[in-house]
Amino acid sequence: MTSFESIMDFAEFKLNSDGLIPVIVQDYKTNEVLMMAYMNEDAFEHTIKTGKMTYYSRSRQERWIKGETSGHFQYVKMLTVDCDKDTLLAKVEQIGAACHTGNRTCFFQSIAGNDFDAKNPLQVFESVYKTIVDRKQNPKEGSYTNYLFEKGIDKILKKVGEEATEIIIASKNPNPEEIKYEVSDFMYHLMVLMVERGITWEDITKELSDR
Ligand code: AMP
Ligand code: ZN
Ligand code: ZN
Ligand code: ZN
Repeated sequence: MTSFESIMDFAEFKLNSDGLIPVIVQDYKTNEVLMMAYMNEDAFEHTIKTGKMTYYSRSRQERWIKGETSGHFQYVKMLTVDCDKDTLLAKVEQIGAACHTGNRTCFFQSIAGNDFDAKNPLQVFESVYKTIVDRKQNPKEGSYTNYLFEKGIDKILKKVGEEATEIIIASKNPNPEEIKYEVSDFMYHLMVLMVERGITWEDITKELSDR
């Protein structure tokens, strides 16, 4: 059982007209917004004491330990209060789905606008990586990625070496266009190598941030 200490008392929060404080819940690794619920003092204390997100259920009018029936617990990593102390933000490790519909997040129904998530620059690495894993598991006719996997590790390494050299050559040219092109080639082949050897982006980012 994990137990936290809060440097703020529930009494210091600015509560809504029902005496509750809204809590926004985020995945601690990806920052994905998972759900929103309310806490009363009992729920707040219980959350701090047990390390499991506990809310006040307005429909059942009782303490609600998230996951108590579904097993989809939320382990608290961090609690933050907003500027005017009327909203909490929780970063959690979410077991299974946050939403009772089975969706990972409660916010799965877009009602206006486009999904700009795909354009988050760093997400492109995850997305290309996933495509490469998918090719390895479900080979596709005429796929260059599958050609590399079929040729094996020596071919992949040769390409990584070649593309690294091409970055060096491109960098002699003051025009960055070519560097951009060669770095992209290199990153792709590097990811093929990572998939071949079972290394994930998470392994790399963890190693870098631990240094
Ligand atoms: P759980 O806390 O996951 O065991 O779910 C218990 C009950 O809480 C469910 O049957 C729903 O009624 C409700 N519930 C669970 N998750 C949510 C959620 N994200 N938003 C609103 N209600 C929920
Ligand atoms: Zn503010
Ligand atoms: Zn506020
Ligand atoms: Zn939901």
